[in-house]
Amino acid sequence: MAIVEARLRWHLRKGDMVEVIGGKFRGKRGKVLRVLTDEGRVIVERVNLVKHHMKPNIAKGQQGGIVEKEAPLPVARLMVVCTRCGEAARTGRRILDDGTKVRYCKRCGEQLEK
Ligand SMILES: [Zn+2]
Repeated sequence: MAIVEARLRWHLRKGDMVEVIGGKFRGKRGKVLRVLTDEGRVIVERVNLVKHHMKPNIAKGQQGGIVEKEAPLPVARLMVVCTRCGEAARTGRRILDDGTKVRYCKRCGEQLEK
């Protein structure tokens, strides 16, 4: 139960389109690849890329070199982009008749869960 409640406090989830609202990546948008609940951080596709130097792994047939990988961003710096109005919007929650909790865009009222 505690886990479910913790998850529900999150205003974004995997697969959401989000916009960075602070820090040096402000204004960038990307898809949420992973939500690191314990750390309060989120990995956003193609945002906050860091270069990793890889050693060649001959056993696995991998070449060495530099690979770019997304580093997590603090969740407080991210806002969900509404699928309808296309704006980075604050989200609210509403409870449907069948009891499901859904998020909605506070700007245009669009329901974000399909
Ligand atoms: Zn909207």
